[in-house]
Amino acid sequence: MNNLEEQLKSSKDRLQLLVDCMPAIVAYIDHRGKYTLCNTEHYNWFGIPVDEIEGVDFAELHGEHVCQTLQPFFEKALLGEQCSTEIQLPHRLRGSRICNMTFTPHLNDTRIVDGFCVLATDITDNKRAEALEEKKKIELSKAYRQAASSNMELEQFAYVCSHDLQEPLRMIGAYANLLDTQYGNLFDEKAGTYFQYITEGTERMQLMIDGLLEYAKLRSSETTQNMVEMQDVLHKALKNLELLIEENGAVITSDILPKIIGHPSQFLLLIQNLLSNAIKYRRKKKPEVHVKAEQKDGEWLFSVQDNGIGIDPRHGECIFDLFQRFHRPQEISGTGIGLAVCRKIIENHDGKLWYESEPGRGTTFYFTLQSVED
Ligand code: ADP
Repeated sequence: MNNLEEQLKSSKDRLQLLVDCMPAIVAYIDHRGKYTLCNTEHYNWFGIPVDEIEGVDFAELHGEHVCQTLQPFFEKALLGEQCSTEIQLPHRLRGSRICNMTFTPHLNDTRIVDGFCVLATDITDNKRAEALEEKKKIELSKAYRQAASSNMELEQFAYVCSHDLQEPLRMIGAYANLLDTQYGNLFDEKAGTYFQYITEGTERMQLMIDGLLEYAKLRSSETTQNMVEMQDVLHKALKNLELLIEENGAVITSDILPKIIGHPSQFLLLIQNLLSNAIKYRRKKKPEVHVKAEQKDGEWLFSVQDNGIGIDPRHGECIFDLFQRFHRPQEISGTGIGLAVCRKIIENHDGKLWYESEPGRGTTFYFTLQSVED
């Protein structure tokens, strides 16, 4: 081998090494559609050894279907234009795969296209992952739509029920009143006790219906959101709870509270419910409640901390469910709707609501709300 031949061989070997290192199919096709070279990845796919590829006809190796699909790209490449496409290629061991193919024309010194380089990357796994992701997205949005629609139906049902139940209940209340004023003096002790149960039951039912109605109306009651001074909301809540605070000798303190965008009347209900619970579920000692707000991870973290009876850890998230309560009405009054209302208000504002509690020492309710952008 003379020096020139040695140089040529060394340069061919280096080229072969270079293309073999690539994690993709690489081949050179001349202007007649015949292979000049390919890499070992090409061999892995199509089974023709690298040293036997020279002169193999592309159309013969890949068949009519592949050739017809690629013909326009071959033509473009032979006119000197780089182009690419996606195509299904059969791997001899792994079956049909999706590949991204790029055709890069090779222009010689006289600017004539001698052939083109083909680079094919297997993108099957990416495509499958994308399809799976898309399928998951569709399923998720379907589930979300179904949940939203059944939620809406439930809300409508709750609204209609509570609205329609009010009338017969009012009638029971009115006739019980009449019975008491006109025939109350004829009741013996037993009848008087029974009658008291009836009126107490009616009053409780009225409270529950009012609460349910309030809950059902939450979503539709306000559509436009405003800038709300939470400090003002707290003042209003304290005013509304004046009697309860006074009766219990409660001391309510607070940090300076921020402005939040949302529904003012819903925020009032939220703070009022949390404060009244913090006072209601008290120990013997004087109730002390602190309301705080701090900025955390781009949102406001509010907390309402009390020194009350605390919550048994076994109750977990159940305390937020509608009509769930853990005290008899004779012990501590309530309907079991307050925290469900709070949860819904926070959901309406895309926040989170949770609590931490130590039985016998107190409870802190936390909720997050979006910060107002400057
Ligand atoms: P209600 O107060 O009308 O029973 P809620 O939905 O407001 O209904 O509260 C549900 C239950 O959660 C209450 O019955 C009570 O057991 C518990 N709870 C709520 N807030 C507190 C609190 N601050 N301290 C102790 N327990 C609480």
